[in-house]
Amino acid sequence: MLLIDQLAEITGHRDRQHADALLLDTLQELLAPGSVALHRCLGDAPHRRWVTSTHRDNDTGQRRASDAASPCRCSPHPAPRSHPSWSECLRQLSPVKQPGEPGTLLLPLMVGAQGAGVVELRSDQPLPEYMQRTAEAVVRLYGNFLTLLDYGERDALTGVFNRKTFTDCFMRAVLQRPKEARHVYLAALDLDHFKHVNDTFGHLIGDEVLLLTARLMRCVLRTDDGLFRFGGEEFVVLLEDANEDGAHAALERLREQMAQYHFPQVGRVTMSIGFTAVQPGDLPPGALDRADRALYLAKASGRNQVAGPSVLAAAGMQASAPHGGGVDLF
Ligand code: GH3
Ligand code: MG
Ligand code: MG
Repeated sequence: MLLIDQLAEITGHRDRQHADALLLDTLQELLAPGSVALHRCLGDAPHRRWVTSTHRDNDTGQRRASDAASPCRCSPHPAPRSHPSWSECLRQLSPVKQPGEPGTLLLPLMVGAQGAGVVELRSDQPLPEYMQRTAEAVVRLYGNFLTLLDYGERDALTGVFNRKTFTDCFMRAVLQRPKEARHVYLAALDLDHFKHVNDTFGHLIGDEVLLLTARLMRCVLRTDDGLFRFGGEEFVVLLEDANEDGAHAALERLREQMAQYHFPQVGRVTMSIGFTAVQPGDLPPGALDRADRALYLAKASGRNQVAGPSVLAAAGMQASAPHGGGVDLF
């Protein structure tokens, strides 16, 4: 296939995981290196995490380790891997050759002004100059494409996914059968007394709190958990867990980290969290309504708390869901 056809194919997909795989296919076909990998970078230093999204070996022709960086896919948690040269590549924002490995080339993947990952090309011999330039141009073009995708799918202030993207991810989560008897949970999160923060410190400082909160949540949440801003000081998380207790523990960890965090000037800000188990056939309004009821209970019980289906049931506010969280719903 012509390069231009391959680029048209890549940019015809909104699913990042699929587009990532097509990018690596293109580089593989174009340059025929020993292997190509895309190491996605999540979070900021020193909490940076790496996920090798896709990997293709020339000799086997089989793609491996397709662990998702997308919130829409709930895949097993990848083993953390990192390499100092990947960070170096993002620091320099230019191609990096591995010391002692002349056939290995690292290319930064920039999305907007952010280093989003590193493409690694491995060969026995160094790539000829013109091939290296072609690879750089393809990766740059791919970064521009992802920047445009983000523009429509992410919240401008915090960089997390927006409400519109939530609907797509939710529908996929409902339609996709979770792996290994896990269940999908939906949590509604709301900062406590945030109006007071704005009134006391001003809207700009309020915005800074929202930005730092989103960053903190991204660090505490797992790679595959989906984080969305619904506007104002309200966020939504889609997560997978074995049962209600597991989901509760993950959200409790988030609540606790938030309560301990010291925001510059403002000090401590807490959040309340309500969550529900996503049911087969659920639509976003119904599941959000159940999570909102639990959130209401967390607020009414003093804020800075997590409330789930069993807390709702104990309060006699059982939502329409016929099952608790720990039952095999899918
Ligand atoms: P509660 O604990 O009951 O949630 O109280 P609260 O004060 O957080 O809730 P309330 O809904 O009364 O206030 C939310 C405030 O969030 C009101 C508004 O000033 C602020 N807000 C909404 N969107 C933004 C935004 O984008 N930036 C900033 N800085 N503030 C926002
Ligand atoms: Mg609110
Ligand atoms: Mg609030």
